[in-house]
Amino acid sequence: MRLRFAPSPTGYLHVGGARTALFNWLLARRSGGVFILRIEDTDISRSTEEAIEAIIEDMRWLGLDWDEGPEVGGDHWPYRQTGRAALYLEAAHGLLEEGRAYRCFCLPEELAERRERAAAEGRSPMYDRRCRDIPAEEAAGMEKEGRPFALRFLVPEGETVVEDLIRGDVAFSNAEIEDFVLLRNDGSPTYNLAVVVDDLEMRVSHVVRGDDHLPNTPKQVLLYRALGAGEPAFAHLPMIVGQDGKPLSKRHGDVSVGRFREMGFLPEAMVNFLALLGWSLDDSTTLIDRETLVANFALERVSSKPAVWDDDKLTWMNAQYIMALGDEELARVLMPVMVGAGLIAADDEEARERLQRAAPLIRERIKVLSDAVPLLAFLFGEVEVVDDSRELLRGDENVSILRETGKRLLELGRFASSDIETSLRDMADELSIKARKAFQPIRVAIAGSKVSPPLFESMEILGREKCMQRIARALETAREG
Ligand code: GLU
Repeated sequence: MRLRFAPSPTGYLHVGGARTALFNWLLARRSGGVFILRIEDTDISRSTEEAIEAIIEDMRWLGLDWDEGPEVGGDHWPYRQTGRAALYLEAAHGLLEEGRAYRCFCLPEELAERRERAAAEGRSPMYDRRCRDIPAEEAAGMEKEGRPFALRFLVPEGETVVEDLIRGDVAFSNAEIEDFVLLRNDGSPTYNLAVVVDDLEMRVSHVVRGDDHLPNTPKQVLLYRALGAGEPAFAHLPMIVGQDGKPLSKRHGDVSVGRFREMGFLPEAMVNFLALLGWSLDDSTTLIDRETLVANFALERVSSKPAVWDDDKLTWMNAQYIMALGDEELARVLMPVMVGAGLIAADDEEARERLQRAAPLIRERIKVLSDAVPLLAFLFGEVEVVDDSRELLRGDENVSILRETGKRLLELGRFASSDIETSLRDMADELSIKARKAFQPIRVAIAGSKVSPPLFESMEILGREKCMQRIARALETAREG
């Protein structure tokens, strides 16, 4: 199997695009086939280098490696349509010579006007084939005069059946397919021409893509046949919709892969979640690792019904993947998040170690990696006591707890969490205060808030000196009233 993902670099990688890429990748890996990345940048005005870079970065982040394409090369170089113009011209002119395409001298303004009139009169807005019957020599003469023209495909009569691996046979009446443009009047190729020429030249065996492309498929099938080639197998993936049943879009929230990465989703969770948008392993399994996906993925279990995007499910899934990470691994993925939040300098080795000790304390409290930032901030920066916790530093009882805590921390031999805990529990006993209550002002002093990771472990990680400083500062705050 030779499969490809063919994004148009006009923006970030949408999660729908990522799902398409993933399904292609899974089929290639499962079958021992080839996965190609091809950049479809024929729309020069909307394509950007930044978008290409971002797509590549997101693909790498998701772990979807390609065997042929940008950065890796391959026998069908270049894997970028702007570098393949000669192939499209050659194919289009071959079709013209064979009488399967014709020159259309209608100007864009004229076409727009005629479309409008047709719409107003309730007729089909399809191209009216005005230039189709210009005799070939006359058309060639007009070309010589320098009149601009587009090249249109001459759609034959009949019916075109797309044999889709997911939807079954889908029949299109050719009468409803307009003589579509192959080359625009500036000589640039259209999507339908470029995609067919490329899929042929790159020997793509299976075209797996979103079902928004289904209406294009009969045109492409006709083109394959006109070019004297057999068409690849097609599989159109079900649309992704929001909870409201409407096509997933920005209105539903974040839809770019990059945003999910920034928010702290793990690529493994993302891949698992995306795989289930239209495909299932069985009727119940939701947590499926990459290896199992590769071993089991098949188009037979891809549904033709729309797949519903569920943010809560993705978040839940991400939490499961975070919980399964080992200490070191968790610290490794948290590091860039902490660096990004400005809490750790990228080259601070000591902070990196501290993070490794702190990470296990919050593993079960975070759903996305960025949740770690507010939870761990007090271990890496100064604390700012949050307003609704300030109260817990005031009053005689709290002040005596803090004073006594300071004394005990100073006297402790080993500054280890178990020793800290024993000593502070004894203190609560001596002061006849319930331990839980006694620990509240200490927690606020140390972490700045009533909620924090486990207190004694945090104190050990923070170290005696810092803890003493924070207790002292809290006492000052208490005195200030
Ligand atoms: N470049 C097209 C897109 O981004 C994909 C074309 C295809 O897969 O055939 O929608």
